[in-house]
Amino acid sequence: MPPDTKCRCASGRLERRCCGPFLAGRPPPTPELLMRARYSAYALGDAAFIITTTEPDGPQWEPDEAAWRASIAAFTRSFRFRGVTIRDAPPADGDVGFVTFTAHLEAGGVDRSFTERSRFVLRDRWRYHSGERA
Ligand SMILES: [Zn+2]
Repeated sequence: MPPDTKCRCASGRLERRCCGPFLAGRPPPTPELLMRARYSAYALGDAAFIITTTEPDGPQWEPDEAAWRASIAAFTRSFRFRGVTIRDAPPADGDVGFVTFTAHLEAGGVDRSFTERSRFVLRDRWRYHSGERA
């Protein structure tokens, strides 16, 4: 990544001071930071990061990795990523945390943003478990 790229999550910070280190392999310390990094990963088409940070025991896990990678690539191609707004991210309660966010997306000039409340679980690291549209 160029050293002065603004982060895809639209935090206003440079990518190397925001989601960049997490995308490079450092586990995000909180669900909120993981949420931001996953948004950035979708914007970049970083399927490996999405897969690594999805809970294998959760409903979003896709056993067919090739199909999963193809679907992430299609998602990345289909939208323009305008950033993510964190609406609510209370401190995690033990090994479970929730983040409510709005993902700002656009496709063909149409606003396709959505708001979701996501559940994250902590095992060896935080991972996305599931979410419901809010
Ligand atoms: Zn970021």
